[in-house]
Amino acid sequence: MEGNKLTDANLKHVAIQDSFWDKYIDLVDEVILPFQWDLINDRVEGAEKSYCIRNFRIAGGEEAGEHKGMVFQDTDAAKWLEAVAFSLNKNRNQKLEKAADQTIDLIAAAQCEDGYLNTYYTITGNKRWSDLFEGHELYTAGHMIEAAVAYYQATGKRKLLDVVCKFADYLCLVFGPEEGKIHGYPGHPEVELALVKLYRITGNRNYLWLADYFVRTRGENPCYFLNEDCIKNGNYIFPEFKDFDLDYNQSHMPLRQQQTAEGHCVRAVYLYSAMADLAYEYQDESLIRQCETLWDNIVNRRMYITGSIGSASYGERFTGDYDLPNDTNYSESCATVGLAMFSNRMFHLTRDGKYMDIVEKALYNTLLAGIAMDGKHFFYVNPLEVVPDTVKKNPTYRHVKTTRQLWFGVACCPPNIARTLASLGNYIYASDKNTLYVNLFIQSSAECQLSGTGVSVRQECDYPASGTVTLSVNPQEEGREFTLAVRIPSYSRGAVLKINGREETVQPEKGYLYLKRMWEKGDVVVVELNVPFRYVRSNPRVRHNIGKVSLMKGPVVYCLEEVDNGNYLSAAVIDTRVEPEEEYDHELLKGTLCARLKGVRIDYGKAGDSLYGEEKPVYKEADFKAVPYSCWNNRGEGEMIVWMREKE
Ligand code: ZN
Repeated sequence: MEGNKLTDANLKHVAIQDSFWDKYIDLVDEVILPFQWDLINDRVEGAEKSYCIRNFRIAGGEEAGEHKGMVFQDTDAAKWLEAVAFSLNKNRNQKLEKAADQTIDLIAAAQCEDGYLNTYYTITGNKRWSDLFEGHELYTAGHMIEAAVAYYQATGKRKLLDVVCKFADYLCLVFGPEEGKIHGYPGHPEVELALVKLYRITGNRNYLWLADYFVRTRGENPCYFLNEDCIKNGNYIFPEFKDFDLDYNQSHMPLRQQQTAEGHCVRAVYLYSAMADLAYEYQDESLIRQCETLWDNIVNRRMYITGSIGSASYGERFTGDYDLPNDTNYSESCATVGLAMFSNRMFHLTRDGKYMDIVEKALYNTLLAGIAMDGKHFFYVNPLEVVPDTVKKNPTYRHVKTTRQLWFGVACCPPNIARTLASLGNYIYASDKNTLYVNLFIQSSAECQLSGTGVSVRQECDYPASGTVTLSVNPQEEGREFTLAVRIPSYSRGAVLKINGREETVQPEKGYLYLKRMWEKGDVVVVELNVPFRYVRSNPRVRHNIGKVSLMKGPVVYCLEEVDNGNYLSAAVIDTRVEPEEEYDHELLKGTLCARLKGVRIDYGKAGDSLYGEEKPVYKEADFKAVPYSCWNNRGEGEMIVWMREKE
């Protein structure tokens, strides 16, 4: 594998024109990025102030004042810059680029002589690195590095890259095993994967080494955090942290011994993403196995069908195997972004399509559910079952919101969703020297180099409404042999392959059809995937879902909403012997494929008033309309349910 590693498609060479995805991607350019710019400049009426840009001005000496906002407030600017960079890959919007350049000037001015960069610690004068457990300095550094790498790749401008290289050089002097250096690691992982990105673009192996150091030393006994002031003397920035055990941030034992995914989900999947990066760079087989173990534990024991993770709101964390309550879960949007990042990296390591199945599940369900079609309202928490009246009255649900929230001051999820949408091309294609992988079915075109010639590929599809995927292949020079690898998702039972109109039989290997041939200009590959509506059941160890089904089409999970089906959705019982009927709703999100289901439901008109009694409920015939989970709550507040009772 060494020498012919798989990499993302270069975003500059992927153009998406897809009727389903464009409406979300356009939101990023047209609404989210300008809105976020106003937010971080405190110009949005009615929104909590961010102070983010102001903090940079103060740290840079342009303005007097105190630091305001969270310790990690700088990341708002970093995440905005990163999403702007991804957007500039497609279109050099002058206004956005100018705003980004100005922000970079401010950031550069706020950098200390020695390379340190963090407005909270610079302005307050608090001791640097004194609280790795909760100070978020390395986390903030990580987001700044990611922004700089993306901005350099999009624009060729080095200013921010130079800033973060100076910062990273300084980090290499501060952290490490040598006497006099800090032997610690971040409380919130993020800098590890960022340092790998910085290494890849600069070639400076010190950065890779530092990322590896952070991962290698994490959880060594005795745990570094136990000797910090916050844990030792109870001086916490975040009071709730005093109740968290070390597994909250995956430092309870050396990472290489951890067999299960534990703790805060976003921290976990950012960390595992870095582990996968390191396994890739060092071609470290045992680390690959370790990543597989953790990924399997998540996906086969601890993940919701919607591609979200975090069964508990307390600690926003993993709990135990098969513990997947549908209404009290946390399922943070950011954690789903992280799961997609981790899974995409696992695909790069192994070329196994099962990892892309999860990327796709995460993107089509929880990621999109997080965002409203006005681009200004978001879900942070993503339950699979909501009864608004109960959510409002029962404090167990205080983390759950019954409508998407206007983007407020502390906001990790909205920019994370934005950067994922803006970089979607990274997930659609991947390539090595002679193979182009087509991972996702999103109408688009891509340019790449295969077997020494430029190749353009155009993908046409209307997925997953239809399973037909047409790929037109155009090599600049003919007579070169290369491979097109087309993913066959695990849920597609069988697929029909035609090359230039002729049916061919190729057996998939680990979820991909490998089509190796001498390609000629105008060659056309058609793959007919089999994506009917299907009912999916849980492993019966998930007690919350016993006797229940969920409806899926391809990667898309469906749900019932009150607006279509009335209330008491728990009383709906689906007759799964009846095939779901397709129903196209022209109104819902500018056009959405829905489904009609048959079944019965409790007749509440015939239920008495007494709380308890011996009578059985009376059922009546009913039909139901199911809509994609990602579309829920776009027509006002109401009940929603993913797992529906199944008729015996
Ligand atoms: Zn978040």
